Amino acid sequence: MPYSEPNSATLTPTAIFGGMFNPPHFGHLHPLQDALNLLSLNKLALMPCHIPPHKVTPEVSTEHRLAMLALLCAEDRRFCIEDIEIRSNKTSYTVETLKQLKKRTQSPLWLFMGTDSFNSLRSWHQWQSLIQLCNIFVLKRGREALLHFPEISEYMDCSAKKPLNEAQLLSLHTQTGKVVALETKLLNVSSTQIRNEIRTRNESEAKISEALLPESVLNYIHKHHLYES
Ligand code: ATP
Repeated sequence: MPYSEPNSATLTPTAIFGGMFNPPHFGHLHPLQDALNLLSLNKLALMPCHIPPHKVTPEVSTEHRLAMLALLCAEDRRFCIEDIEIRSNKTSYTVETLKQLKKRTQSPLWLFMGTDSFNSLRSWHQWQSLIQLCNIFVLKRGREALLHFPEISEYMDCSAKKPLNEAQLLSLHTQTGKVVALETKLLNVSSTQIRNEIRTRNESEAKISEALLPESVLNYIHKHHLYES
């Protein structure tokens, strides 16, 4: 068979979901599982941030965050860890990360995030350059409606009842700057809530709900006395 250059229409997208994961929880995992199912993707990389531009640097070590994230990944083999930001000593600007990823792959970059993150996009470093490097897939979070920015060329909706059509899928493989609102599970959980519950809980109270995060992650938190003070 003659050799033909791979083109982005046939390459599996590089799917990335960034976060602090301090700690990781089901609000990360379950909506992403829905997203993978909706898009028929079988791989997504969870990318922990090293020095966040928008949040305070976590009091828990990078090693602990990585270990907890590995436990979350063990829940579903479609997930893996992308450590590009964690290995760097610089502030984690997504636009710079995407440029580095672009050097290593020809496949389209698909960036996943929750509605709150997407709605704050205009405050992100060089956000207009960022959207030229990837397409953005938004997971439902809270009651916030998705903002529509005039600078973004195309918004699409994707749900089990309204899957993307062939033309939309092709454009997501071959073009950038598009946003897809995904109809994913709504889970009212945040890392802040989990940290606060652990900090304020006393011995007589019930354990932190295992509905919020995997038991393995919760056991790890207790074993290493994380978030207790
Ligand atoms: P914190 O409470 O410390 O701010 P967080 O729970 O928001 O943390 P992050 O790791 O900072 O978690 O978030 C990473 C990404 O996960 C963001 O894009 C965020 O919008 C998304 N995300 C977090 N929790 C949920 C959730 N419950 N539903 C949908 N998306 C979520």
